[in-house]
Amino acid sequence: MLILDGKIASAAVKASLLQKTKALQAAGKRTPHLAAILVGNNGASETYVASKVKNCDETGFGSSLIRFNDDVTEADLLAKIKALNEDKNIDGILVQLPLPKHINDEIIIESIHPDKDVDGFHPTNIGRMVQGMDTFIPATPYGVLLMLEYYKIETKGKHVVVIGRSNIVGRPMSILLSGDRPQGNAYVTLCHRYTPKEETVKMAQQADILLVAVGIPEFVTAEMIKPGAVVIDVGITRVEDATAKKGFRIKGDVNYEEAITKAAAVTPVPGGVGLMTIAGLLMNTMKAYEAN
Ligand code: NAD
Repeated sequence: MLILDGKIASAAVKASLLQKTKALQAAGKRTPHLAAILVGNNGASETYVASKVKNCDETGFGSSLIRFNDDVTEADLLAKIKALNEDKNIDGILVQLPLPKHINDEIIIESIHPDKDVDGFHPTNIGRMVQGMDTFIPATPYGVLLMLEYYKIETKGKHVVVIGRSNIVGRPMSILLSGDRPQGNAYVTLCHRYTPKEETVKMAQQADILLVAVGIPEFVTAEMIKPGAVVIDVGITRVEDATAKKGFRIKGDVNYEEAITKAAAVTPVPGGVGLMTIAGLLMNTMKAYEAN
């Protein structure tokens, strides 16, 4: 059984990026710069953004963390994004989701210039991705592709079952893996909340590669895994646990202990796809810089 280790795979991506930034610095040039906008003080969002900023530092990228209180108006947020769009020294912009209810996510995402949309959520970039054009691939799906590439996992001609159809994970994953591209050419089944549970189980049992992004801790059990399958667990849920130092534990969507008894390869949570998401984000920021 192979553990698909996000620490190892993301370190390889970061090492190659660091080499590039060192060369830029040696040539007296500026390095890529990411601007991250954080609204409010949601614990998980704080952790994600802090980790993104730390990873920028480690890779020789510049970063700016821009914070707003959760009563910020949509107009103020849009004005800030406009200024960042116009700032030549900013290559990538990300707005950490979720946003407070009074702010429309779609309007905010569309306001980011597609050339700086390093999360890959802008409709222009999603459209380009669907058409197989060069674009910013959404950071988490990109991270999964980098993981598959690093561990040389063949996808061509394989049956991939994706559970979950979100715009940021499940749906783009299904499009990318079925596309005519490296880490593509799979045939894909997409299950979601309206797939009868017994059908989801039946499909999962036939998956050469099972990718799960539902946000339900330990949704996938041993009976759903085909012997020898590759299991990619995208889920991250904080589950309260009084015995844990922080008062919670991070759980994936796959029962890891059960999965390792049947699968050929599994991503752990934490330490799997989450770290690869940051690698995807950094790759996109370098790409934005190179085009800028
Ligand atoms: P979401 O939370 O927006 O939606 C959940 C998806 O699961 C929906 O598409 C829904 O149709 C599907 N679903 C719900 N119940 C189901 C069921 N019983 N059977 C089949 N499908 C069902 O999706 P998301 O934003 O992709 O998040 C999913 C999980 O992935 C969450 O735990 C989230 O925290 C995590 N996540 C992790 C990363 C990362 O970097 N590792 C990035 C994004 C999201």
